[in-house]
Amino acid sequence: MALQGRHALVTGGGRGIGRAIAQGLAGSGARVSILGRDEAALREAVEAGAAHAFATCDVRNPASMAAATGRLAATQDIDIAVANAGAVESGPFLRSDTERFRRMLDINLIGTVNLFHAVLPGMLERGQGRLIAIASTAGHRGYPYVSAYAAAKHAVIGLVKSLALETARSGVTVNAVSPGYADTDMVASGLDAIAAKTGKSRDEALAAMVKDNPQGRLVAPQEVAAAVLYLCGPGSGSVTGQSLLVNGGEF
Ligand code: NDP
Repeated sequence: MALQGRHALVTGGGRGIGRAIAQGLAGSGARVSILGRDEAALREAVEAGAAHAFATCDVRNPASMAAATGRLAATQDIDIAVANAGAVESGPFLRSDTERFRRMLDINLIGTVNLFHAVLPGMLERGQGRLIAIASTAGHRGYPYVSAYAAAKHAVIGLVKSLALETARSGVTVNAVSPGYADTDMVASGLDAIAAKTGKSRDEALAAMVKDNPQGRLVAPQEVAAAVLYLCGPGSGSVTGQSLLVNGGEF
């Protein structure tokens, strides 16, 4: 049990990639707490054994984040924090107004900042920690019709690279994991939207979505979790400021 005795916190741990990460960490022996807005989904994940505790929280709001982390870890004992909560909105740039850009920055970048602000002081005090952001291939390259999301995910990777340099001598590492299209609700609703808008069948929409992935398939949430586990493991101490791509070799 590589992570026995560690306390891990995962935002958006009630479903999708976050839930697979929580389950992977718990399976490696960590005590896992999950955060999100949907209390029923969080409770169900704990009851199913994917995590040990939950607190409701809107990651965009620093006060909500501080209250939730305070409830889960009164002594600031978080060893591993995974900023996974995120959302995507799509549309052409000229129909993506400032508010859309603010929403994408708020959930994807500020949600990550709020988590890292909440847990980093305790990590620095104890001289150890793992901060991990779930970014995206859209944090490395552009895609049409998701300019606001891609801008926010590029910002997440900029945060990771900069904070890794600030914490380099502290025992805390800071990394991103960047998946390609993965098999979750986020992609399922994207496929529904494409099918409704273009008249394509769902299978045709899926084929178009995975055409950039040389493996020709969606990434499994468990494959993203495996990358997170590697970054949390004992042998990864000199890996910091990186974004680990889990994208079937897309680039
Ligand atoms: P889902 O839409 O399946 O899940 C999103 C998660 O984020 C939910 O658990 C949701 O919880 C949580 N969340 C959203 N907004 C908030 C908020 N304001 N406060 C707290 N929690 C919130 O997404 P995925 O599992 O697919 O995505 C997870 C991460 O992976 C995201 O950062 C996404 O950008 C990234 N990613 C996903 C890819 C994909 O193809 N699926 C590809 C590349 C990156 P709740 O409903 O309880 O609020």
